[in-house]
Amino acid sequence: MITIAIANQKGGVGKTTTAINIATAMAATGWKTLLIDLDPQGNASTGMGIDADDRENSSYDLLVDETPLEECVSASNIPGLDVVPATVDLSGAEVELVSVEDRTARLGSALASHTGHDICFIDCPPSLGLLTLNALGAADTLMVPLQCEFFALEGLSQLLKTVEQVQQRFNPDLGIVGVVLTMFDRRNRLTDQVADDVREVLGDLVFESVIPRNVRLSEAPSHGLPALVYDHSCAGSRAYIALARELIGRLPEKRKAA
Ligand code: ADP
Ligand code: MG
Repeated sequence: MITIAIANQKGGVGKTTTAINIATAMAATGWKTLLIDLDPQGNASTGMGIDADDRENSSYDLLVDETPLEECVSASNIPGLDVVPATVDLSGAEVELVSVEDRTARLGSALASHTGHDICFIDCPPSLGLLTLNALGAADTLMVPLQCEFFALEGLSQLLKTVEQVQQRFNPDLGIVGVVLTMFDRRNRLTDQVADDVREVLGDLVFESVIPRNVRLSEAPSHGLPALVYDHSCAGSRAYIALARELIGRLPEKRKAA
């Protein structure tokens, strides 16, 4: 299984929207896909239509109680896509894990011997705390949604510093599969300018596929559906399908067959 953390310590940049829709696109392509909701807000779980009442075991149990992964997985309505949902308990996990010796390795240990899925996406919370560190510790690679706004690059350098520390301390093989520009609005000249700047600084690290600002993407979660199911032909869905195709091309060969 290849594990991809979707992280950016800024809130509202499109992490959860990207996690839900890229996971759906991969499942539709025939990859057995797991989506782990690691944000106490549980937006990915809600957006996948998993009611709060139905979240019997969650990412909290996985991390804090070391409940086996198989027992924390809920099936979604999408064939081939399973979810480890999040509950509000997870907001306490950072504190509960502080005194634990393997506090940054809990998620990695939980995923290490897992064979039930081909690919796993982790939707991270908007911080660089213990939850995100667990995701970076467990991941083979990182995908960074970046909103095209003025301070986008500043936040990114902080994230890249954290990635370097994680590589030095506990996950030397952590890669960065790419940066995806989100909420792109071609009518807004600032967005265009920021996108150009980001491409100039990061070069090929930036995915060619750009996610447009698209109202269907923001409506879909309230129906408990990925945009790809809610309206598969809207501009946002098409962009995520293109992104999934590009992502597959960037995954290491040996993993693709897994
Ligand atoms: P994060 O997980 O980084 O906090 P979200 O994916 O939850 O970000 O997105 C924040 C808000 O913006 C949500 O209300 C979401 O529906 C909306 N949104 C995300 N991406 C888009 C987009 N491309 N077009 C329009 N709205 C979007
Ligand atoms: Mg989110």
